[in-house]
Amino acid sequence: MFPAFEKYRIDILGAFTLVILTLATGISVYVVMQKQVESVLSESLKASLQKDVHFTERQIHHAIIEAQVASSHPSVIQNLQLFISKPGNATGRVELQGLAKSLLAANFRGLSIYDASGHEVARAGHFSQRHDLRAPLKTKDRAFLLWDGEFLLQISKDVLDQQGHRVGMVMTEAHLYYLTLTFKNVASVGKTGEFAVCAPLAGDEKNMDCFLGRVSGKDFQRIARVIEGKPLPMNYALNGGTGVILAKDYRRQQVVAAYAPVGLLGLGMVLKVDRAELFHPTIKPLKFIAPLLAALVLMGILLLHFLVRPLVRKLVDSERATRAANTLLHAAQADLRQFKNTLDQTLDCVFMFDSDTLLFTYVNKGAIQQVGYSQTDLMQMTALDIKPEFTLERFQQMLQPLIEDVLPSLTFQTVYRHKDGHDIPVEIFLQLVRLEDQAPRFVAMVTDITARQQAEVKLQRAHDELEIFAATDALTGCANRREFEARGRAEVARVKRSGAPLSFVTIDLDHFKQINDRHGHRAGDEVLRAFVTLLKRTLRPIDWVGRIGGEEFALFLPDTPLEGAVIVAERLRQLIESEVVTLAGTHLWFTASLGVAQYGPDGDTYESVIEAADSRMYRAKQAGRNQVIAR
Ligand code: GH3
Ligand code: MG
Ligand code: MG
Repeated sequence: MFPAFEKYRIDILGAFTLVILTLATGISVYVVMQKQVESVLSESLKASLQKDVHFTERQIHHAIIEAQVASSHPSVIQNLQLFISKPGNATGRVELQGLAKSLLAANFRGLSIYDASGHEVARAGHFSQRHDLRAPLKTKDRAFLLWDGEFLLQISKDVLDQQGHRVGMVMTEAHLYYLTLTFKNVASVGKTGEFAVCAPLAGDEKNMDCFLGRVSGKDFQRIARVIEGKPLPMNYALNGGTGVILAKDYRRQQVVAAYAPVGLLGLGMVLKVDRAELFHPTIKPLKFIAPLLAALVLMGILLLHFLVRPLVRKLVDSERATRAANTLLHAAQADLRQFKNTLDQTLDCVFMFDSDTLLFTYVNKGAIQQVGYSQTDLMQMTALDIKPEFTLERFQQMLQPLIEDVLPSLTFQTVYRHKDGHDIPVEIFLQLVRLEDQAPRFVAMVTDITARQQAEVKLQRAHDELEIFAATDALTGCANRREFEARGRAEVARVKRSGAPLSFVTIDLDHFKQINDRHGHRAGDEVLRAFVTLLKRTLRPIDWVGRIGGEEFALFLPDTPLEGAVIVAERLRQLIESEVVTLAGTHLWFTASLGVAQYGPDGDTYESVIEAADSRMYRAKQAGRNQVIAR
């Protein structure tokens, strides 16, 4: 694999695992936390709205009851009855004015009393003159929710006499303090918090009138109840539903909204906040948590790098070392097997024997084959048992230099005696091996040299033959000129010391050219052979014949003075003369001229004596051929 990648693999994998783990943990914690926060915030939004609904409802009911109380006040009824019988009754007007004042004090912002014909006869406090929105409530009496810097509830209540006849009307206007406060304190919900109170429209199912309280300010709008086919949270409230919903509001923003109806008054309330803001608290910590997690991961990686990695590295190293050791061990075992196989397969024989007892401790296959004994036999034999040439003393004497470390090894030739009795010439290479836990042993590599010796004999023979070949004249078989010269010089040197007589004779066949010319070259050859045969037949074994030219020959006759040599030469001349060579029915005769000289009287070197004989031979030619001249 890639070494660089391998090197950092642990780091990379570790870091990757850490990042994945951290991300997984972070995300799951975040999701759980978000769900938790979402549910807590939703619940608190819902609870807050329910409290608002509850208090608003109570205030409205309270105001309605107070209006009921004012309209059913006996003095109010009495005085209004008087107005029917006596219109413009001044005393009644004063009295009603006093009543209006006293009724106003505790509960209302404004209170007016009207006679049956609808004229205002008394008034206390103020009535809103200019309001932004006026929403009717679903009550028996005419009641409106309106805003004039605050939430107000305006109620018109008929005043009835004991018989149930309408005698006038009381109109009240009450503060809805709690609702106003809620409306103004919307900032406590959040920056995007909005509190809405809406009322449906008579005869218009699709829209609604809304009081909207936001941090940025209030607003009064007519809003569609369903946008893009999806009902707004307020629509659920107006339909009598209560709950919390994640939905789009009229601004098409994702919001979390709590919604509820206000009793049976036909109003709906919604407290909502933008989803983004609601979850802001869960996103905000991420800014801190994310770097914290990153730091944690980094620390983890560093920890991994500096603490875990060296451990893993050690583990990997030791595993690698073990593998290497195993490989080496296997290799060593294989080597050993290979070594044993090699020893067994080698043509050489390997014997090992103890340095003290000379008992064999190991023999290879070759060794067993060579000597013919079984391995079991050999293990009970000593090295001497197969070496007939050696006595114990001689063998020990020979091994001594190895034991004393004087020589590193020993090579010698001897013979091994085979079990069947025949001897095998061998060459032995001997070494002493000292193993730590064992006694020293001799290791003998033994080579059968039978073939080598035979080859050597052959070689010698060939060599000898070559020498003879080099020294012999091919046609006649006598010594050639070179050989004759060498022998002649050696003989001269010998007689120089011994003082023994030595004579030389040179012989040239007469008119030999004619033999060739008349009878052919082959006939000439036959004559030359017959001539040499004649010489050898006649001369002593110690005499030497050499062909020193085409048809020129020389002899040296050891221990022969000139007189003796002349006799030999003369006899030769006569024999040559009488020799008949028969070739293809043709008889050939030939003669020769001979010159004789003696070492000493005729010359003191080989050359000078030969020269002397030669010149005498030429003189014999000149004198008519077929004769011997020695002077
Ligand atoms: P002379 O009596 O003067 O010696 O006359 P010659 O003819 O013997 O002498 P010459 O030197 O004229 O001729 C020698 C001849 O011997 C010439 C050569 O062809 C012949 N000859 C030399 N060597 C051989 C050989 O090996 N075989 C044969 N057949 N002839 C040879
Ligand atoms: Mg000649
Ligand atoms: Mg001749």
